[in-house]
Amino acid sequence: MMKKAIATRLLCQSGLRALLGRAMEWSGVLVLNYHRVGNGKESSFDRGLWSADAEAFTDQIRFCKSQLDLITPDDIPRVVANGSGRYALITFDDGYRDNYETAFPILKAEGVPATFFVATGFVDNPQVPWWDETAWMVRTSRQDRVELPEWIPAAISFDEPDREQAVRTLLRAYKAMPAESNGRYLDAVADATRSGRCGTDVGRGLWMTWDMLREMRAAGMIVAGHSVTHPILARAPIERQREEILGCGTRLAEEIGEPMRYFSYPVGGPNSFNSGTQECLREAGVQYAFSYYGGFRRFGDWSSYDVRRVAVETYLTADWFRSIVTLPQLLA
Ligand SMILES: [Zn+2]
Repeated sequence: MMKKAIATRLLCQSGLRALLGRAMEWSGVLVLNYHRVGNGKESSFDRGLWSADAEAFTDQIRFCKSQLDLITPDDIPRVVANGSGRYALITFDDGYRDNYETAFPILKAEGVPATFFVATGFVDNPQVPWWDETAWMVRTSRQDRVELPEWIPAAISFDEPDREQAVRTLLRAYKAMPAESNGRYLDAVADATRSGRCGTDVGRGLWMTWDMLREMRAAGMIVAGHSVTHPILARAPIERQREEILGCGTRLAEEIGEPMRYFSYPVGGPNSFNSGTQECLREAGVQYAFSYYGGFRRFGDWSSYDVRRVAVETYLTADWFRSIVTLPQLLA
């Protein structure tokens, strides 16, 4: 990440970006991914989920519009068959309420379609997801350190600003364990922090509702799947993967009134899905599945069940964002 930041600064200072942009023409599909839009600096939840504030988001959408053709997954067959041009998709994961309240009005005003991948279980039974709950347990704790010897070898100190490192350490441990241990681990964190588990009231208003999603669909947005409860699919047995994928498709069909054709893998790294996951996607009739570990797809290197996506993060400066969009072959 640091190397990219330094490279970007050099590119911008030297005017090299414009030069390189002309010299290194690329073609393909660049997919940008967001989670939350707004200001999360004071939040008890996982602050890493905020991708941009409203102002930065507006700038980013306008810049993309000026550089690329903004499409939806519905357009992919056409542009791939065509095999030339530079395209981008704007996507969102998880289904946070600010997507409707903040991002959707901006997208409408700019006339840009986006794709929203939602975990249907969060819409159906709003509750605080594991990453937000972990952050909340750490930030509301009155302890100055916690020990979880069964899960993490060293004690975790809370004596740093915002307890951000502690949150990251606990989330890393969660992501590394088999899905069946997740509940017991969260209980252990609840005990060790003495914060207890989040009540459902803590997460009230966190997610979009089906009415909001239907309104967005009617306005030209795409509503797609992101599992039911957001497990790391590759860490779950195949029966559970099937329930998560087919169950998500069933709920989308019931509420939105169309089959689930697009899916994004929860967490989305190269190890978060496997051949079993893709088997279930085929069974569910999914046409494109999106990962989340950087990169972009060239037309000659197309993989429908691993459409690569780039994270948009709050620490991206405007220059850095513009460089990614102009030079994805170097920076995406
Ligand atoms: Zn997600």
